[in-house]
Amino acid sequence: MRVERQERGPRARGRRGGGGAVLGLLVAAALVLSGVTGYVVGAATSAPSAAAAATPTPAATIVTPQPVTPTPTPTATDAGTNVPLDPDMAVDTETLAEGQAGRSDVNLASDDVQVLNWVETDDPVFFITIDDGLKQSPAVRDFVAANQIPVTAFLTEFAVRNHTEYFQEVTAYGGSIQNHSMVHGAFTDPETDVQWEICETQDRFEVQFGTRPWMLRPPYGAGPNDPQVLQYAQECGINRIVLWNVLVTDQNQVEYWDPPLRAGDIVLFHFGDGLEVGLEKILELGRQQGLTPASLEDYI
Ligand SMILES: [Zn+2]
Repeated sequence: MRVERQERGPRARGRRGGGGAVLGLLVAAALVLSGVTGYVVGAATSAPSAAAAATPTPAATIVTPQPVTPTPTPTATDAGTNVPLDPDMAVDTETLAEGQAGRSDVNLASDDVQVLNWVETDDPVFFITIDDGLKQSPAVRDFVAANQIPVTAFLTEFAVRNHTEYFQEVTAYGGSIQNHSMVHGAFTDPETDVQWEICETQDRFEVQFGTRPWMLRPPYGAGPNDPQVLQYAQECGINRIVLWNVLVTDQNQVEYWDPPLRAGDIVLFHFGDGLEVGLEKILELGRQQGLTPASLEDYI
């Protein structure tokens, strides 16, 4: 059975980044202000020589970074960080995947390709997926280990080819390494060699990580129901095309189709700076709803 879905990923991705730019500007402005203030204070109190004035190096008085670099703590009740996705992305009543235990025997014996954004289940669980692999933060690895988080990592081959051990460690708690293409080409772009993006990744990951992926997340969530994409996926051993319905942005804002976090939700992160903060936040949001992260691999 093939489940036809409209594309929703690109719009979700399109919302990323704006908050970071604003924050960056605020930080930059604050740094300038604190620098100016510091310099004025330094000049008034120490009567610097002409040379010192030309190169204002009273660094000790300039740097007071506390007020301008707020560490985003995971406060789940902070309404400002819970930004809903576009209204037209509201969850409807479609069932996309029936929760089922024992993925490997069931799914690997079947060459059906299903496209899903979340899992239909009554279990009090949600799913953590992390994409790309551009950064390999020890803090993330340690947080995942300390909390035994099952991570399904959708990796882009070019980003991870020299980091086998890191991603094996991050996915060692009930997770797995899955296909997010070779070089992150959009499958809807006529310039993209979709077959190569899907099938070459399958072959290389099987060698690099010792297991052949059975899930695919198209870059940008683009083209999951394209007949060509489905055909190449099926031919190369993919039987689940996994999108998402909750996005945690690189600024650790949580964007929902339909808040709050619900059973069966698939949460998308990216391997980037501060990811461990976002993970801590989603665990807390889950706790507030009575949910814990589970292995997506056990449900689809
Ligand atoms: Zn990606």
